[in-house]
Amino acid sequence: AAPLVIAVSTSISAKQGLLIRNRANFEGARNLNAVVFDKTGTLTKGEFGVTDIVPMEGYEENDILAWAASLEQNSEHPIAAGIVNSANEKDLQLKRIEEFESITGKGIEGKIEGKKVNVVSPGYVDDNNMAYDRERFEQLSESGKTVVFLLLDDELTGMIALADMVRETAKEAVASLKKEDIHSIMLTGDNQKVADWVADQLGIDEVHAEVLPDDKANQVKKIKQTGWNVAMTGDGVNDAPALATADLGIAIGAGTDVAMESADVVLVKSNPKDVVSLMNLSKKTYRKMV
Ligand code: ADP
Ligand code: MG
Repeated sequence: AAPLVIAVSTSISAKQGLLIRNRANFEGARNLNAVVFDKTGTLTKGEFGVTDIVPMEGYEENDILAWAASLEQNSEHPIAAGIVNSANEKDLQLKRIEEFESITGKGIEGKIEGKKVNVVSPGYVDDNNMAYDRERFEQLSESGKTVVFLLLDDELTGMIALADMVRETAKEAVASLKKEDIHSIMLTGDNQKVADWVADQLGIDEVHAEVLPDDKANQVKKIKQTGWNVAMTGDGVNDAPALATADLGIAIGAGTDVAMESADVVLVKSNPKDVVSLMNLSKKTYRKMV
């Protein structure tokens, strides 16, 4: 009877918007007791908007935004879209990029009008012992805003704060998991304070922040070694190795192709609540088979 059950569950899963790519791992979903979520784009919409620009002495808000947006034109990070959109809304003239590269997990670097330009994370600025208005930074981060810094020729010129939106469905997903005694974990490259703020909004049990892209899979491996039977949910290129490492890899449908190719299940509707549906479906399917 097994093949029939599988056929039926395949059509049910398709209706629910679950694309099952690895049947064996999907069946194992009934044994999961922890779910790891990537933050940006998975728990949040990944649509950033600029909320605050804080220039250092001698710089203007619009200059900070124009330099940053000029460089961000070449980046595909959701932060980049937020900064470029904000500059466009203000009709700012963007400059031509002469050189560009990304600094994995830390930001971007390039050359514009002969100047070295960086838009980088708080981690990068701290690693280089640069001084800034720490109080203002903490205040922004504590309200869940992601702060990036503009450097011109290695001089700090200002900070740009951006807000993303928590997905309402993510809140419901975490609440449902809690009801079933399933541990929820957040994994993010973003700052600790921002991560804590989002986790607090959602009721997430455990937070791993400031994780470099290459370290995401390693973190999942460690969580497994702690004894959890763990699913990883993500959307980005960065998430692919972590999806492959988890007992069950779940990709958000609206995410990157790379993430979907590494996943066991794809949430076609990009709804984090479908993580709970898929665990329930796996339980039901298994019950019918034994
Ligand atoms: P996540 O996907 O969780 O945001 P990333 O590893 O992509 O993690 O990024 C980590 C951090 O690096 C971001 O929070 C940001 O501070 C910085 N960063 C990455 N890309 C950019 C970019 N294009 N512009 C500015 N900052 C960036
Ligand atoms: Mg992401």
